[in-house]
Amino acid sequence: MQALVIDDSRAVRLLIGDILRQRGFEVATASDGQEGLERLRENPDIRLVLVDWNMPVMDGLEFIHAVRKVPAWDEVWLVMVTTETESEQVQRAISAGANEYVMKPFTAEVLVAKLSLLGAFEE
Ligand SMILES: [Mg+2]
Repeated sequence: MQALVIDDSRAVRLLIGDILRQRGFEVATASDGQEGLERLRENPDIRLVLVDWNMPVMDGLEFIHAVRKVPAWDEVWLVMVTTETESEQVQRAISAGANEYVMKPFTAEVLVAKLSLLGAFEE
């Protein structure tokens, strides 16, 4: 399965990328939401996106809104991975169209458990 990791932190992109690759995903990366949209346009096989909230140029919430406006991307799973931990923030992300929410810092086990809930390992 193809996945996309969007985060302005290179360390986080590497960390999440490693976790996903170890579990058989092919991983593309982007450092802001705008670049993330370009990756999605380039690669229609991307099925899973892990996106940071706080980034320059286009943040994660704007990215989620933009993706959910495009019917072709209805089936793409969007997981917000962020230090924003207030329940109001979680609700905003889910309302915008995020499928899951992971709070930083996270462990590989937590991330994998959330992705399992989505069914990301069943295809
Ligand atoms: Mg960030």
